Formats: sequence, C-alpha cells, structure tokens
Amino acid sequence: MKLRTKKESKIKKVLVFLVLSIIVICSAGLLAQQTIYKIQELNQTKSELNLLQLDKTNLEKEAEEVKNKEEDLKNKVAELERKLEEVIKDNPEVTIDPEEANKKYAYLTFDDGPSRNTVKILDFLKANGIKATFFVVGDPAQEHIYRRIFDEGHTLAVHSYTHKFNEIYKSVESFMADIHQLSDLIQNITGVKPTLMRFAGGSNNSVSKRYNRTDIMPEIIAKVKEEGFIYYDWNVDSMDAAKSNQDVQVIIDSVLEGAKDKNHAFILMHDAAVKATTVEALPQIIEGLKKQGFIFKEITPEVAPVQFR
Ligand SMILES: [Zn+2]
Repeated sequence: MKLRTKKESKIKKVLVFLVLSIIVICSAGLLAQQTIYKIQELNQTKSELNLLQLDKTNLEKEAEEVKNKEEDLKNKVAELERKLEEVIKDNPEVTIDPEEANKKYAYLTFDDGPSRNTVKILDFLKANGIKATFFVVGDPAQEHIYRRIFDEGHTLAVHSYTHKFNEIYKSVESFMADIHQLSDLIQNITGVKPTLMRFAGGSNNSVSKRYNRTDIMPEIIAKVKEEGFIYYDWNVDSMDAAKSNQDVQVIIDSVLEGAKDKNHAFILMHDAAVKATTVEALPQIIEGLKKQGFIFKEITPEVAPVQFR
C-alpha cells in the first residue's frame, strides 16, 4: 500500500513536470512566433520609411529645381524690363500701347499647300471671319487656289517650290533658285512680290549637313534676308506632321496646350492631301483659342518673327 502510494506520487510528479514542460514549451513557441511577427512588422515599417525618405529627398530636389527656375525667370524678367526701358529711352518717339501689349494674337499657319484640303480650309476660315497665313509650295495648275488665298485677305507666303530637301539644301544657289521660282509664280498670279517665307523643315533644320557635311543654313538665312525676305518659324506645333494621319484630339490638344502660355502664337499646321484630321480639328482649335483670349491674324511684315535662329 505504501509502495503504491509512493509510485503514484512519483507518477503524479512526472505528470506535473510533463504538463509544466508542455506549458513552458508552448509559451516559448508562442513568444517566438510573436517575436517573428514583430520583426517582420518592423522590417516592413523600415522599408516604408525608406520609401518615404526617398520621396522626401526627391521632392526636396524638385523644390530646389523649381526655386532655381523661378530665380532664373525672375532674372530674365528683370533683364527684359531693363532692355525695354533702354529701348523706350532710346526711342522717345515710339509709344507703347499697354492695351496692345496685353493682346494675344494667334497666327494660324498652313504649310505645304495647295492641296485638296485648301478649299475646305478657306471655306472654314471665311465662315468664321478668320485670316491665316499659307506657306505654299509650287504648282502652276493650282493658280485659282493661290488667287483665292490672296483675294480673301490671307497671307500668301513662300515655303518651297519643290519641297525636295535633297535638292534645295544642296547649296545656297539651289535653295535660292527654288525660292525664286516660287516667288515668281506667286508674283505672276497676284501681282505682288511675296516677302514672307518659312524654311522647309524650319530654319534650324540640319538637312544640309547630310549633303555638305557643313551647315549651310546660316549662309542661306543671310542670303534670304539680304533679298528682303522675313522668315517665320513657329512656337506652337500642332503635331499634325508627327504621324501621317494624326489623331484629331492630339492636334487640338497640342495647339491649345502649346498656345496657352503665349501672347503671340505661331501655330504650325499642314495643308496637304493626307492631313484631313487637321481640317477636322479646326473648329475646336478656334473655339479653344478664342476661350484663351486669342485674336486671329494673318502674318504681315510688321509682325515680329519667331525664329529658331
Ligand atoms: Zn513643309
């Protein structure tokens, strides 16, 4: 009997020990698990913090850039004001009309016509009482179109007779021959010698480098100026030439976005058979520009040109 009790109490002790051990092991396991979760959580927070830090650094950099730009623009404005004052001082007879200075002008320009779209463009401009500028190419069969452009009060200006880059930009002579051919054609039709022009590809084109290895544009520019031409590049690109059949909305958005910070918007568009979407974009372009406060005008020699160089 005594022996049994002893044995029983031993078993009890072992059992208690086992139970206690299990409890201790389980608690340790639980604690370990919790610690792992905590570490994972901490790691996550750490990587989030790193990302935030990176964002902060980037934003600080951006802020610094904006500040520098603002400083730069302020300096430019001050410089322009200084120049303006000098000009006013040197030319006391010239008065500046502040009302005129605040006006916004949009110069719609159509390159490469006449085309089968010219009549549509002219009809639209007529219906809306808007004058524009046509930088044309040479096509004697389209005499009536040149005449209509001229008669309806638009500016008929020189672009290129052949528009063949590989021929006109071969030399100064070949360029001038092409320009004269077109200028003569226009003069024969309208009786007026055109004085405004736009270079095929713009005045900053580097086409001539392909043929001559040197840039002959400065020479060509000097020559056309010497002959009394004024050339106009553009400061708003409708992007209608970026693709053969550009999306109408892209054309509208490009013009309205490009013009919004300008007081004198020289808008590059194309009058070509494949540019039907340019014609389709016109109503919304006009509406949008009017909303931005623009007045439409054709380019005349009095209009200070925008030039890439
Ligand atoms: Zn062109």
